[in-house]
Amino acid sequence: MVQVRTDNNFSGVYWITENGQEKIATANLAQGKKVYGEKLVSSGGVEYRFWDPFRSKLAAAIINGLKFFPFKDGVKVLYLGASTGTTVSHVSDIVKENGIVFAVEFSARVANEFIDRCAKFRKNIITIVEDARRPENYVGIFGKVDVVYCDIAQPDQTDIAIKNCKMFLRKDGILMLIVKSRSIDVVKEPTKIFEEEERKLKSSGFEVLQKIELTPFDKDHALIVSKKLF
Ligand code: SAM
Repeated sequence: MVQVRTDNNFSGVYWITENGQEKIATANLAQGKKVYGEKLVSSGGVEYRFWDPFRSKLAAAIINGLKFFPFKDGVKVLYLGASTGTTVSHVSDIVKENGIVFAVEFSARVANEFIDRCAKFRKNIITIVEDARRPENYVGIFGKVDVVYCDIAQPDQTDIAIKNCKMFLRKDGILMLIVKSRSIDVVKEPTKIFEEEERKLKSSGFEVLQKIELTPFDKDHALIVSKKLF
């Protein structure tokens, strides 16, 4: 019998005690299906999926003290950089059937793997195989979203995120931007790069709510959480 604790600050997030250690998890929306080899455990009729902070920067941010968590049942998300679905799948668990995740990935090969491992088992994911630099080409997005999550590891990632927010994020919606400093400049001090990206967001009409570094899970990465004020 495993011990499961609900997290009052993070909707849809659970802590499961295993070998005396609490580990982060979400309730599996796709019964019996794993996405990246994560462990599944059942308790009280619910199946939980362990969420690996070394594989998912969102889990790393929660463990490192994230204060603003915009995901919950029914939330609409535009997710840039879906890859093979590690983090998207946990976001899909959290927003549940009433929510929706528009998942953008520009590599056709990676997107096929994403569909096979993750999207085809989850009705709340819509896959968009497109370059996030061209949000005007997305087909299938309807209305505005509550959250834009951007993890594309590109030198112009902040500009791309802002462009997508201008088109699809509602006023007062939240942008969660993963900044990989080495994608921008390999020699510059990461903290300087994080400050520069924060300044870009502020000058584009965002209020920066929190910046959180992801060490030791991901070196030279930060998550910047900001609110779109316009
Ligand atoms: N967010 C994923 C996760 O946590 O599971 C990891 C994302 S990985 C760091 C970056 C992904 O973004 C890659 O799959 C890459 O193909 C994709 N990507 C990079 N540039 C892109 C762009 N301009 N448009 C769409 N996808 C892009």
